[in-house]
This record gives sequence, structure tokens and C-alpha cells, in this order.
Amino acid sequence: MKYRKSLKGSCLPDGAGSYATMAKKKTSAQHHIQKTTIGVLDLQGDVLEHLDHLARIGIQGQPVKTSADFSNLVGLIIPGGESTCLSRLIRIFGLDDQIKQAFQKGMKIWGTCAGAILLASAIVGEKPHLGLIDIEIERNSFGSQLDSFASEAIIPKISTNPLPLTFIRAPKIRRTGHGIETLLWIDDYVAAAESPEVLVTVFHPELTGCVAFHRYFTRKCGLSPLDENMVPDVDPDWNKNSWARFAPVPQG
Ligand code: GLN
Repeated sequence: MKYRKSLKGSCLPDGAGSYATMAKKKTSAQHHIQKTTIGVLDLQGDVLEHLDHLARIGIQGQPVKTSADFSNLVGLIIPGGESTCLSRLIRIFGLDDQIKQAFQKGMKIWGTCAGAILLASAIVGEKPHLGLIDIEIERNSFGSQLDSFASEAIIPKISTNPLPLTFIRAPKIRRTGHGIETLLWIDDYVAAAESPEVLVTVFHPELTGCVAFHRYFTRKCGLSPLDENMVPDVDPDWNKNSWARFAPVPQG
């Protein structure tokens, strides 16, 4: 796969330059390797960044807005954003039953941050939303937006490399139920966990140069992403502004 430099200096695969292009255009690798698709719930939150990370590892992503978008999905990513807002939009657009039905038929799901909150079976002080993984989660557990932070950890099941972690007004997973595997413990909370069908991370791999989680989820869905020799787990050209490349601030 060819790479080009983006405005902010990060590496993007050819054809990953715009939302529309990403949704419609297949890279040559995808023609040969993959015909199946991973959806990204496209109601609110960091949709483009997930689609971009999928494109980097040669997987076709699909923005999911209506029930018609679920055909041919082997997996669905529920992005970070704001869980109350996302939950309302899911209900307004009538997608809750659709998500649950597709899940019953074998579609895997990954929730990042607000997405993890939507998937939890219990939320401290609130009613749960989709309830598709047996965890209890506590919203805004580090404090306000200003208490957001970046960190790094080795998560053996995901990668042998240290992975960048971005926490934005993040929740903490306070309890994991029977059959739930903890992927990352930090201090007094679980930051990443999974069941055979659902992956949850309280941080945002899509806002970093890390594609290791996208590759892991893609494999969990039974697909074959480009491997570590073709696309490294962590983009060495990534810098702290790279996440903003889809909404560049005019210079000068
Ligand atoms: N604080 C948000 C919520 O509770 C989640 C933030 C995020 O997704 N980065 O919904």
C-alpha cells in the first residue's frame, strides 16, 4: 500500500483523504484481501478517525446511519463522543433493535469510550443502554474535560509494542462479569476488556497513530488486515496534531 503525507504530517493510505472517498473507494489491497466490511456508527463522535484507521490496515469501513447499512457487516465500531447524545440518536433513528439483531446474528462490536458506555450492562447511577457486555462502567470518572490525558501501556494480547493511549473525559470500568477478559488494568480500574463478541476500551486508539486495536478487532471479526510488516502498530510519523487532520486549522 502506498502512503502519502497528510497536511499535518501523519501517514494516510492513498484514497483516505476525505470522508466520501473513504466510504466509497476500495484500495487495491481491499480488492484482493477483503470483501467484507466493518461499520462505524455514524451518528456523532469520531467516525472519520475510525474509518481512516480501518483504511490504513486495508479494511473496508462503512459509515452506518440507517438499518440498510447493516447488511454485510461483520463488525461494528461504536465511536467515542457523548453517550447520552449517542443513545438518544440511536433511539431516534431506530437503530437499537437493529444493532441487537445484528449482534445476535454474530456481528462483533467494539466500543471506544462513549461506545463502551453504551455497550455496558451496568452504568454507575444510570440505566444501561444496549447492555451487550457484562461490565459496570462509571462515566466521567477522571473528572472534567480538562482532566483528559495521554498515556502509554504495553497490552500483551494486542501488541508487543508500547501503545499510546488517549483518555478524553473517560469512564472507568469498575467491574467485569463472568467470562469477560481484562486486557488492561491501570491503578484501580480496567481500561480495556472483552467478551468473545464485544471489545471495550475507555481510551481512543483512533485518535492516536496506533492501528493495533483496529487490527485486533478486525481479526476478532474474522477478517485479514494488512499485517505488522506492512503497516506498523504505531505510525512513527504521528504527532500530537495529527488527529485534527480532517479539520485543519487555516495557518497564518
Ligand atoms: N464523557 C463521555 C460520556 O460520558 C465520553 C467521552 C468520550 O467518548 N471521549 O459519554
